Amino acid sequence: MIENVTQEQTASTTDEVVAELKKRSAFVMVSHVKPDGDTLGAGLALGIALKRMGKRVHYFQQDPVPRNLRFLPDSDEVAREIPADLPSDALWVFGDMSDTGRAGEYLPELDRANILDIDHHLGNTHFGALNYVIPTECSTGTCVVRLLREMNCKIDRDIATCILTTIMTDTGGFMHSNTTPEVLNLSAELMLAGADKEQITEEIFANKRFAAIRLLGRALEEARIGHDGRYCWSYVDEEMLKECDADGEDTEEIIGYLRSVEGVEAAALFKNYDGDIRVSLRSSGRINVQAAAARLGGGGHFRASGLTFVGSLPDAAKAVEEALVAEGL
Ligand code: 5GP
Ligand code: MN
Repeated sequence: MIENVTQEQTASTTDEVVAELKKRSAFVMVSHVKPDGDTLGAGLALGIALKRMGKRVHYFQQDPVPRNLRFLPDSDEVAREIPADLPSDALWVFGDMSDTGRAGEYLPELDRANILDIDHHLGNTHFGALNYVIPTECSTGTCVVRLLREMNCKIDRDIATCILTTIMTDTGGFMHSNTTPEVLNLSAELMLAGADKEQITEEIFANKRFAAIRLLGRALEEARIGHDGRYCWSYVDEEMLKECDADGEDTEEIIGYLRSVEGVEAAALFKNYDGDIRVSLRSSGRINVQAAAARLGGGGHFRASGLTFVGSLPDAAKAVEEALVAEGL
């Protein structure tokens, strides 16, 4: 590996990736742990398209499909098990992750030659034989659209639903700064192709369990503000989950509220359950939280990132604050 080469220099071209997709006959679409609408929607969209081309497609995901994504077509086929008769030259397509570690510990040992990495994260490690990494894309799903167009694949209702889900997930329902005119045009095309925007909105952004709303209240009660009002953070622990009858899937909304406080430039949520501490970071645009997360072994995007911290909550809070200060908080 040559060090310090930019992603633009090493990323695979659309032609190269399409040639590989056409050449292979079997595929495993891989989503990351704690899957969201982008990793899952991108894998399902490409999987459905490849099936229509007569290819054999499986979906590997360590964690179960979250409740709010079970409306996605083919999501009932997603599994942790790999069929015993999978050909050895199957192509493993990783979607929406900057390194293979994000796929979790159940991922089998793989030959790099059989890995295609499709992603839009800053700092993707280019772990595949082919790395279709486009950080300017709003979602991994819109990277997949480029491939579908090159393959002249018809974007039908199912594929459109999956892709629009990736866009709405990663733009926060068209609110984040990655919502360009091109993204809105593409979204309109997807709606015309049959994607039900209202259903996706309802499934992803509404439809919250009462437990999630109670947990939001508890986490907001614990919120602290510092650095002259520029930093807001809170936590969720085992006890709070139990108290609200909630689980990890009910934590999603919280970080957005912390970030939305007037004057806040960076927000952090510490999820202290299931062993290690999972940290979500968000920025309002000045502080690069991807760089802050990367200092502690995590990653993501300029305005949204995450990491896993091994240690106590006070240690995690101190380390994250220091990383944010190092990035200009
Ligand atoms: P979330 O806070 O929603 O879990 O994650 C926000 C963003 O950061 C997502 O784009 C996600 O892929 C990325 N991210 C979250 N956790 C990690 C991590 O442990 N490692 C890396 N590389 N990226 C992460
Ligand atoms: Mn994404």
